[in-house]
Amino acid sequence: MDYQKILEDIELEIKPMLGDGKVADYIPVLSSIDPNQFAMSITLFDGTQYNIGASQKLFSIQSISKVFTYTLALKFYADKFYGRVGHEPSGDPFNSLVQLEYENGVPRNPFINAGAINVTDALISYYHSSESTYKEIIEFIRSIADEKEIYMDKAVALSEMEHGYRNISLASLMKSFDNLDNSVLDVVQTYFNHCSIEMNTQMLSRSMLYLANHGFDPVTNKAYISPSQAKRINAVMLTCGHYDASGDFAYNVGLPGKSGVGGGIVAIVPAKMALSVWSPGLNAQGNSLAGTKALELFTTKTGLSIF
Ligand code: GLN
Repeated sequence: MDYQKILEDIELEIKPMLGDGKVADYIPVLSSIDPNQFAMSITLFDGTQYNIGASQKLFSIQSISKVFTYTLALKFYADKFYGRVGHEPSGDPFNSLVQLEYENGVPRNPFINAGAINVTDALISYYHSSESTYKEIIEFIRSIADEKEIYMDKAVALSEMEHGYRNISLASLMKSFDNLDNSVLDVVQTYFNHCSIEMNTQMLSRSMLYLANHGFDPVTNKAYISPSQAKRINAVMLTCGHYDASGDFAYNVGLPGKSGVGGGIVAIVPAKMALSVWSPGLNAQGNSLAGTKALELFTTKTGLSIF
């Protein structure tokens, strides 16, 4: 298949949509980003990449980081983790407080904010401090992306903390139900730190190969997690990766994927490749509008969906 040509066709088709979405202005530092940007990358199992658009431009990975933190939590806690955080779709917005109250402080899944904050808390307990936790998370990301030059954008982390009322509320609510071990502010700051890591679509598509290949990096042969853990993460990406638009993403794209409010999306084609797309204009559920469409065009043109 001529992947480069397919990417070029996709770029042409989504160009008219680029101004349609709305950037994530609830994080003030992200509000000034030009929504008319687009990038897409594919990485095959031998490491070959195909790219289109601004695929070297760094952006805030935001909730895509939840895939990496959940990977670490499953690796160290395995099934013991279930009980603290579930694996059912929430059907609610990513930052909703409502369900958490009537479900006694146990988040539905690790990809809504409450779940990801809880995962970060579990990692802090495992690694003993917020500093060592952040260090382990970023080292893990550098390893799976096979790229040393990956850093946090401190201005984004600061901006998130200054306006982090909702996330602080989610953490406080979990603490009140005795489902958070560490200090609310420590946990939320560490969560914001990993959300503020910057990557581009080339790095992100490379970083997802381990999930397309049963937990093993097909290029370096490193084993990160077991095949059954990889299966579980992919299942949660498919059912919960796009919050209250997860059904829509499965319906239109048909791949396990995860979005972030920075406008990035990652997705995997099992046993074949990993993809990443970026366009900062978001739809009503906080997922990249043109990015989602680009992935839909990809699976339609190639037939490479899991269904
Ligand atoms: N850091 C963002 C937040 O907590 C992540 C949300 C997202 O990407 N959906 O609101």
